[in-house]
Amino acid sequence: RLQQRIHGTTLEINLNALTHNYNFYKTRVNPKTKIMVMVKAFAYGGGASEIANHLQQLKADYLAVAYTDEGVALREEGIRLPIMVLNPVQESFIHLKEHHLEPVVYSPEFFKELAKYCESQQTQMKVHLDLDTGMHRLGFEESHVDELIGLIKTNPQLEIASLYTHLAGADESEHEDYTREQFQAFDQMCGKIMGNLNYSPIRHALNSAGIAKYPEHQYDMVRLGIGLYGVEVTGKYDQHLKPISTLKTTISQIKNLKKGQTIGYSRKGVMQEDGQIATIALGYADGYDRRFSNGKGFVLINGKKAPVIGNVCMDMTMIDVSGLNVKEGDEVIIYGPGISLKELAERIGTIPYELLTNISSRVKRVYY
Ligand code: PLP
Repeated sequence: RLQQRIHGTTLEINLNALTHNYNFYKTRVNPKTKIMVMVKAFAYGGGASEIANHLQQLKADYLAVAYTDEGVALREEGIRLPIMVLNPVQESFIHLKEHHLEPVVYSPEFFKELAKYCESQQTQMKVHLDLDTGMHRLGFEESHVDELIGLIKTNPQLEIASLYTHLAGADESEHEDYTREQFQAFDQMCGKIMGNLNYSPIRHALNSAGIAKYPEHQYDMVRLGIGLYGVEVTGKYDQHLKPISTLKTTISQIKNLKKGQTIGYSRKGVMQEDGQIATIALGYADGYDRRFSNGKGFVLINGKKAPVIGNVCMDMTMIDVSGLNVKEGDEVIIYGPGISLKELAERIGTIPYELLTNISSRVKRVYY
C-alpha cells in the first residue's frame, strides 16, 4: 500500500494522458492484435493497482508483471485481466495457482518442475514460453526445442497460452540486422513448436520500440511498456504521446549567499557569484538520482530552468535560483511536461526507465 504521507513531493499521474497513449497505440496495431501492458515495477513507478484498474476499464487484453507477488497484489486489488509473470520462482507456484496467474516458462528444467507441481495438484495452468532468440537473458534456446516439444506433448496439464521472444536492441538502428535475425529465429522456433501442437498459442515479440519500428512483426500481441507511460524511446512517436507523470515538489527555503560560499555535503557546491539558492523537499531517498548533483540535473520553477547546486542529499536538494525571482513555497517541477525524461536520463548516463522506476514509495502518487 502507498503511504499517503504529505511531505511536499508528489508524483501526479494523468490518467487521461494514459488513455490517450493507449488509444494511440491501438491505432498503431492491427485490430486483431492484442495489447499486453507491462505493469511490472509498480507500473514503471506510476502505481500498479491504479494503472492496472484503469487498463481494465480500457479493456486491455493482458497485463504483465515481473514477479509473482506483483501479480498477487493486483489480484488482491480486484484486477481480473489475465496476468503474465515474467520471472516466477518455484516457491511461488502455489500463489500462481491460487491467483490464476500465468507464469513464463523459460527452460526445460523449469517446465518439468511446474508440470510436476500441476500434476501433484491435479490442476491445469496456462503458461507462456519465452524463446531466447538473442537477448540471452531468460528463455529456451534453439537447441532445447525438440526436448520442449516432447515436454509439451507429455504434459497436457500445462497449456501453452503463448510463445514469445524479447528484442535486445529494437530502439537502436545499429541493431536492425540483429533484430531481423531475432524475428527469423523466432519464426523458426514457433513454426517447429506449433507444427507439433493441436492448438495455436498466440505469438508476441514487440516492446514499445518494436511497435514503432517493426509493425510488420506484431504477430498476435504486442507488449507495451514505456510508450504507454509517455516516453518515446525511438523518437518516432514523439508528437503523439503525452507524458503521464509529473514529479513535483516545493521550495522549503531560500538563502542569499556570497561568492565563494559552499553548499551542502562535502562542500561540493560553490557560489560563483553572489546569488540565491533554494532548498527543495526531494532527495535521493525519493528517487532523485544523486548523479544529478552539481549542475548535472535541473528543475523548472515558474517555467524557468534552475540547476542543482552541490550534492543531492537524502531528503533535500539545493538549486541555484540566482536571478530567478522565486519565493519559498513555489512549485518545482522535477520531471513532466516541459522536461524531457530522455534528456535528463542522458545527462547522468542512464535511461528514462530507471528514472521512472526509482521514484520511491514515500512519494505520494496523485491521480487525476
Ligand atoms: N517485454 C518484456 C519481456 C520486457 O521485459 C519489457 C520491459 O522491460 C517489455 C516487454 C516492455 O518494454 P518497453 O517498456 O521498452 O516497451
